[in-house]
Amino acid sequence: MDRDQFKTAAHSAIDDIVKYFDSVPERRVLPAVEPGYLRPLIPENPPDEPEEWAQIQEDVDTKIKPGLTHWQSPNFMAYYPACVTYPSILGEMYSATFTAPAFNWLCSPACTEMETIVMDWVAKALALPECFRSTSETHGGGVIQNSASDAIATIIVAARERRVRELLLAEGLKEGTPEYEDRKFDVQAKLVAIASDQTHSSAAKGALIAGTRFRGVTTRLEDNMEMTGPRLREVLEKCDKDGLTPYHLTMTFGTTNTCSVDRFAELKAVLQEKPAWQRIWVHIDAAYAGASLVADEWQYIAKDFAEGVDSFNMNMHKWLLVNFDASVLFVRNRLDLTNALDITPTYLRNPYSDMGTVIDYRNWSISLGRRFRALKIWFVIRSYGLNGMKAHIRKTIGFGDLFAGLVRDRSDLFEMVTKPGFGLTVFRVKSLQAVSNEASGRVAKDEVANDLTKKISELVNERGEIFFTSTVVDGVCVMRVVSANPMAEEKYIRNAFDVIVRTTEEVLKEKK
Ligand code: PLP
Repeated sequence: MDRDQFKTAAHSAIDDIVKYFDSVPERRVLPAVEPGYLRPLIPENPPDEPEEWAQIQEDVDTKIKPGLTHWQSPNFMAYYPACVTYPSILGEMYSATFTAPAFNWLCSPACTEMETIVMDWVAKALALPECFRSTSETHGGGVIQNSASDAIATIIVAARERRVRELLLAEGLKEGTPEYEDRKFDVQAKLVAIASDQTHSSAAKGALIAGTRFRGVTTRLEDNMEMTGPRLREVLEKCDKDGLTPYHLTMTFGTTNTCSVDRFAELKAVLQEKPAWQRIWVHIDAAYAGASLVADEWQYIAKDFAEGVDSFNMNMHKWLLVNFDASVLFVRNRLDLTNALDITPTYLRNPYSDMGTVIDYRNWSISLGRRFRALKIWFVIRSYGLNGMKAHIRKTIGFGDLFAGLVRDRSDLFEMVTKPGFGLTVFRVKSLQAVSNEASGRVAKDEVANDLTKKISELVNERGEIFFTSTVVDGVCVMRVVSANPMAEEKYIRNAFDVIVRTTEEVLKEKK
């Protein structure tokens, strides 16, 4: 493809992209295809001769779009959203154009410096405590990772290295000696990463990658599925009894199942009870709900991170208008990351890195090469302004409140299972077996209500008009409806509720 052909093709692709966004609300949100649908539509072998762009683009229309789940549809209310906006698409275009895998500052100073500046902007936008900025006295800073899972695994590895080093130095061993190396693996075998049973599975995966144990803290509906101090203490004490060393704790701001918020202050107070517990690396996973911090009324939550929190991550690509991938990770002390991950063979050395005056982001993450993702974040923040971003968060939280209100108004059919919030409503078919009590969090365990809730969810999704997910919390099967999509509008929220009501009435009638 030469430059003129590229211009024609790119204009046509952009027209098609805009048309796609215009048409997305009318499309069936879940595709009506069976597994294996694509193979018969694509030639068995790659073409020997070049093909025209028009032909390729037509195949996107006829073969790819029919097999897409339309995450951008306002009728997509499942999982958490994966948003995209026009300025972030423009950022991707420039990033692809420059394709500069800036692992060292020298590999593209603009990429590195823009990332540092934009991460400081994001830290300020989210009102994170000063310690998480690159200019802080604690040597903090932010880095863009591929995903929250990558961010969490990276942090857990850094936490393991920090704790092992502390323990070995306390034993009088010297880093780099054979004795240190041997003892390192004895100590590592006793390390335990901790998180609640509602924490995203990436924490357990991070412990697996770090080669350490993992223990979960139980949560209960009567505590709104939040991790509490007493339940954390139980796990820490059990670790002590078993001769194990807790080294990392993931607290969640907005769990995947119900968007619950762990009790940060209470948990941090427990960690202060013993000197060994004070050494535990505390990480806040705010992958979804962290976006709400852009709005002033939620920023009080970030005050809890000023002390006793080592790191924080959130995904701008879920709810904050930047497309996948834009997972931001902030650390209180970047040396904790670089001490763990800096391996510098001669071919990566250069005078700037050797002077130690520049940032080489390869030492802040697992991968070496990295995309220029700061650009799209910069474009989005500038195009919306912080006020535009706040407005988006407030509008979508408002839609969540609207949906929760609709659920409450039909208390003959449904009951709330956890506190709604941050655009998520978690509810189920009303239990007729036993009395539930929303205010006290007492939700009756009821297999009939579980089966009905599951059946309604499956039926609605099978019909494809709207898409939401169901899950099980503390033995209760629930529907979870999220209203945080950039295309969300009141009419779609009301329509989703009507679809669920109609299907529920149909299922209940059949059952009689
Ligand atoms: N943490 C939480 C709270 C999540 O909800 C999710 C995904 O939904 C993740 C982590 C993992 O995100 P990623 O896909 O970026 O790895």
